[in-house]
Amino acid sequence: MIFSKDSKATSWVEGANGSDFPIQNLPYGVFSCGGSKPKVGAAIGAHVVDLAALHDAGLFSDTPVSKSNVFACDALNDFMAMGLDAWRSVRRRLVSLLLEDDAPDSCDDIVSADKALRDDAGLRSRAFVSIAGVTMHMPTRVGNFVDFYSSKEHATNIGSMFRDPSNPLLPNWVHIPIGYNGRSSSVIVSGTDIVRPCGQTKADDADAPTFGPCRALDIELEMGFFTGQANDLGTPIPASKAPDHIFGMGLVNDWSARDIQRWEYVPLGPFLGKSFATSVSPWVVPLDALGPFRVAQPVQEPDVLPYLRVDGDWGLDIDLKVDLKSAKMDESMTISRTNFKYMYWTIVQQLVHQTCNGTNVAPGDLYGSGTVSGPTPDSYGSMMELCWKGTKPIKLPTGEERKFLADGDTVTLSGVCTAPNFKVGFGELSGTILPAREYP
Ligand code: CA
Repeated sequence: MIFSKDSKATSWVEGANGSDFPIQNLPYGVFSCGGSKPKVGAAIGAHVVDLAALHDAGLFSDTPVSKSNVFACDALNDFMAMGLDAWRSVRRRLVSLLLEDDAPDSCDDIVSADKALRDDAGLRSRAFVSIAGVTMHMPTRVGNFVDFYSSKEHATNIGSMFRDPSNPLLPNWVHIPIGYNGRSSSVIVSGTDIVRPCGQTKADDADAPTFGPCRALDIELEMGFFTGQANDLGTPIPASKAPDHIFGMGLVNDWSARDIQRWEYVPLGPFLGKSFATSVSPWVVPLDALGPFRVAQPVQEPDVLPYLRVDGDWGLDIDLKVDLKSAKMDESMTISRTNFKYMYWTIVQQLVHQTCNGTNVAPGDLYGSGTVSGPTPDSYGSMMELCWKGTKPIKLPTGEERKFLADGDTVTLSGVCTAPNFKVGFGELSGTILPAREYP
């Protein structure tokens, strides 16, 4: 179910039309309410639809998930493992159940409105829960977390600040979607507090390193995709098949301790400066919901090697925003606005490169895009860039200044795609900084 960009389809669910979660979106997440066991739901308007309840009511009986209730569990991994046909069948079924009227002209597939849920008051009362009243959990069990470095603007900014402004990109950057293996155990869902990490740092003018709380705690505005069906070890996923292995996307904040990172990263790259926390948004937007927002990616020059050549446009027109609120502020303040379409390497190229050596991906794995920075200083995706190495502090309405995050600061990322008649939103991803804990 890929709606066209001019889709006018609407849902009968109150509040859905015009919201971040209209019928064209239907993101998946894991929720619980009132102490119940977590299960899989889809968001529509201000509601969660309990997919486990719909399954129990037999509403997925004509789909590939009919035999086992893959929604009655605390992660999306089992559903993700079933593959593209199952995802598309379930999405098609959900659209038919939530559609206001038949909408033959607004998507790639003719779907009729099915009244089985709409006209069953008992089922509706079991299956619909207010988003405001639920607890959201990690959407997947993340087995592998990989973080790329795919924004040319970001890589150029970092290279300019810390290496050579006249030659900021390393020679491999335009040939390889650069990435590293991150830490999955500290991937956490939105709303989880971030304890300021401690570690080893060394000031430029100091003779020796010291140990203590990070003094340069930063954000990284990123997006990430979750993989579905696995590939066999030793068998790469070719470019033509890679989109079929991507289940969907969410927002990612890859919290970073710049002072720890700076002292440790040569020669082997990021380690403790990155591995203390990576936050993800609770709702995973299906790749098909992003179909109307595919745009041409930036021109890749020099030409990429043949294995990285991908048909079609895989840039994604997603507006992204970073809001900051200190403990003293009543309202948050927007400190960056950018767009995912600026990313040089696409999500499909990232996945193709990931498996080109034969490594295997697993259902529920998370692949971070790398910091999303746009072309202008107000569109950078980290405080290090926004404040340009501390030379341009962010002034807050309270009179406070920030070069990096202070204890009590809350950072909220949000993302939305906009079509003439509807939006596809990612919701929000928030985290608050807690003071460092005394070292045991
Ligand atoms: Ca990162």
